[in-house]
Amino acid sequence: MAVSKRLRYEILRRDNHTCRYCGASAPDAPLRVDHVIPVALGGTDTPANLVTACEPCNSGKSSAAPDAALVADLEADAFRWSAAMKQAAAEFEQRDAGRDAYHQAFTDAWNSWHYEHDGERRTYELPSDWQPTMDRFRAAGLPATAWPGIVDAAMGSTGVKFSNLFRYACGIAWRHVAELQQRAREILADPADG
Ligand SMILES: [Zn+2]
Repeated sequence: MAVSKRLRYEILRRDNHTCRYCGASAPDAPLRVDHVIPVALGGTDTPANLVTACEPCNSGKSSAAPDAALVADLEADAFRWSAAMKQAAAEFEQRDAGRDAYHQAFTDAWNSWHYEHDGERRTYELPSDWQPTMDRFRAAGLPATAWPGIVDAAMGSTGVKFSNLFRYACGIAWRHVAELQQRAREILADPADG
């Protein structure tokens, strides 16, 4: 990741053209703009993660002791960053697992229904956006356990075209969501009635 010229200039100006480690300043010392948290560890090209450093400090060849407080800060930042990344990864994993299970509950219900075509048993085709649609129902709080009943109701209705089955099922699902919301309002209105 390359830091743009403009950003480099902004950082140099912010740091008053002075090395943040040893205090050397231009034009005596050649200055560079360095990442606080290395890019390899997830550091970004944002001003908060960029620091002015002279060539010797940047390459670690400086005899001047780097500002201990700053170094400690950087280490704490790197540690907090790696802990946060671990937590974020765990959250993503959990979220994805929940999402997959939700989708699975729906497709299990959907694919339990078949029709015959040229003597073949087929499942009903789903629209390309069925997954984001499921995500919206999940976000709306509709439990995965509602799907078998919803799909059965849609499949069991007469006069619905194959191509409209999914939309029809979604209509039923949104009515379930509306019922949930209605019930939630009742609970809010009268907490004793729970
Ligand atoms: Zn320096």
